[in-house]
Amino acid sequence: MVATLAVVSLPARAAFVITGNAADQTTFINMINGYSTGGAWSLNMVNQLVWTANGGAVDFFASRLNTFNGDNLNNRTVDVKQNYPGVLVGAFGPLAGQPNGTQLLDLGDIQKFSLTTAAQPLLDLQPSVMIHELGEVYQDGGAANFNNAHVFGGITEENSQLAALGSRGQRQTPGDQFTALGGNQWQLKIPWRDVPNNKPGWEVITGTTTAGMFNITQIAPGLAETGATYDGSRDDIAIDSIYFQPVPEPRNAGMLFGLGLLIFGCGWSVRQRSNRLPAAA
Ligand SMILES: [Zn+2]
Repeated sequence: MVATLAVVSLPARAAFVITGNAADQTTFINMINGYSTGGAWSLNMVNQLVWTANGGAVDFFASRLNTFNGDNLNNRTVDVKQNYPGVLVGAFGPLAGQPNGTQLLDLGDIQKFSLTTAAQPLLDLQPSVMIHELGEVYQDGGAANFNNAHVFGGITEENSQLAALGSRGQRQTPGDQFTALGGNQWQLKIPWRDVPNNKPGWEVITGTTTAGMFNITQIAPGLAETGATYDGSRDDIAIDSIYFQPVPEPRNAGMLFGLGLLIFGCGWSVRQRSNRLPAAA
């Protein structure tokens, strides 16, 4: 008997598969190319993310995404839509109908953020929001451990990107607060810090949902806790404005005690909700 050794040439397998319709895939590729220098991103025939270097200097965004993308690992799928129903920026598994290792990405939400520190010197920028979402799904790799991926993948990468771009802001964790304001209004407050000025504050993101009969629970568990409704028209949440709100300095011991209780309360609330809240920013 003669043993035959077949040498199989496997195609290069990238970490990220980008799913969605062709127009949304193109928008995603154009966005990440806009954040990258030293080469260009594209999708191959099976929707894997591919980097083609041009010999120029590779910036932080492109460097990090190359690290994420070069590991030849499975379970890193990013499903992109210009407007993703029920998704605020990104929604990370496990969610109903979504395989572990998938990040749902709302490109329109990310486009609401500024591109450069010249335009926005303190708060999130498009590259920092995008690298959060991609770093999150990279870190997780299908483990479906939201807290671990969000903090050690998402926020760590986000802050590194902000620093690389010369932002003076850094995201703090934990303590996000998502609040329905009545009607179709909502507010997301993310603890923030103006580092050179040594000032705590919030990145405050306000927005609306489309009013209607359909409860958003059925699309993205967690947002429903706000009482927000969804009419099933495939519109999603729109970010209206993003601004920095300083935290007032406590003036006496009584106020300091009150602030301590508030922080404790928020931490509990976030832990209770974090598994069900889509990853936001
Ligand atoms: Zn996150």
